[in-house]
Amino acid sequence: MPAPILRRLDALRTATRPWILAGERIGVVPTMGALHDGHLSLVEAAKRTCDRVIVTIFVNPRQFNNPEDLKNYPRTETEDARKLERFNVDALWVPDGDQMYPAHFATTVSVTGLTDVMEGHFRPGHFDGVATVVTKLFTQTSASDAFFGEKDYQQLLVVRRMAADLDLPVTVHGCPTIREIDGLAMSSRNLLLSDRARTTAPVLHDVMEQIADGLRRGAAFDPLHAAAVARLDKAGFTGVDYLDLRAQDDLSALAAPTRPARLFAAAWLAGVRLIDNIAVGD
Ligand code: AMP
Repeated sequence: MPAPILRRLDALRTATRPWILAGERIGVVPTMGALHDGHLSLVEAAKRTCDRVIVTIFVNPRQFNNPEDLKNYPRTETEDARKLERFNVDALWVPDGDQMYPAHFATTVSVTGLTDVMEGHFRPGHFDGVATVVTKLFTQTSASDAFFGEKDYQQLLVVRRMAADLDLPVTVHGCPTIREIDGLAMSSRNLLLSDRARTTAPVLHDVMEQIADGLRRGAAFDPLHAAAVARLDKAGFTGVDYLDLRAQDDLSALAAPTRPARLFAAAWLAGVRLIDNIAVGD
């Protein structure tokens, strides 16, 4: 069944009021649209867990540090609504810009510490935009549960920190990264890759698995890292923003996986920035 597409806050509140009064569990799946199977796995998790599910589609200008990236970001609302039909979600929240950021809007939610590194370092202001919009999405939808992908692992940790710090009554669920058959993490930005770049893109996940294998065999991180960067360069990647081994709870940098750890990468291919992360260990 097609879900109603709600664009104004009063319509959203009218929809959620009876659900709240009935004590129902409301799950929210925040997205920026251009939906793929990664997003849909979050919708499935929400449907399994909650009485009501709201999928949000909002290309949030405040989390883009690069105007070109915002301009080029894929927008496919009609197809997105069609892809969601089979899930019988209860509402699509596709707020008009003024519903999110009315005139004189002057509040920012800012999480420190976790945001100093990786995406926070390379995309200044990005996580302030994320934390602010996610806080608003939580309160707008009256969500009891929210579903985020491990694909954006740092974002997942930032949202968890923010919800805990602000006493938001929302359980934040992390869902595994969904990949293409060749290992490439699904991402809306993959639509921007040329055919040629698309065949090269899985090398990123490949080199990460190679490093993880090496670490499992007891090899040192630095030479594994150097070999991976060289292979990315040879494959046609034009830059590596980071390829880091970090603790999975607080993102502190590690020289070896002495605690539960993940490998995190961001790299440029044909003008598109790809990010990925995998767990390291058993
Ligand atoms: P986005 O539309 O890219 O902002 O992503 C919306 C949500 O979908 C975020 O919680 C992402 O982490 C999640 N997501 C994006 N790609 C994937 C993927 N390949 N697997 C699982 N979740 C994903």
